[in-house]
Amino acid sequence: MPARPRAADTLHREFLDQLAALWPPFKGSLTEVRKPCIRPNCPACARGDKHPAFLWTFRAQGRRHCLYVPAELVAQVRQGLDNGRRLEEWLAELGPTWLRGWRQQRDAAPRKSKG
Ligand SMILES: [Zn+2]
Repeated sequence: MPARPRAADTLHREFLDQLAALWPPFKGSLTEVRKPCIRPNCPACARGDKHPAFLWTFRAQGRRHCLYVPAELVAQVRQGLDNGRRLEEWLAELGPTWLRGWRQQRDAAPRKSKG
């Protein structure tokens, strides 16, 4: 996003448009782990290879949590984590952009009772 100053209503519209494109925004990290299964005499477990699983680690209310992610959802969760990172970067820029826009509008407005 360009950092040029924009009026607050323009900024709001842009925010809503781009927010829709960042659905779903997630936080945390996704790690591939290997875990044993419950099948008796499983060759993969007997070899020590075990089975790939995906663990999503995130913080909520100051505590660390983990959830297993089904294989068919891994791509969506990865995309969501990427969206979440982009949203956070974007939020970091939003306040200063909003303030610069406000200042520019104020400075462009005709001055009252001067001269
Ligand atoms: Zn197994």
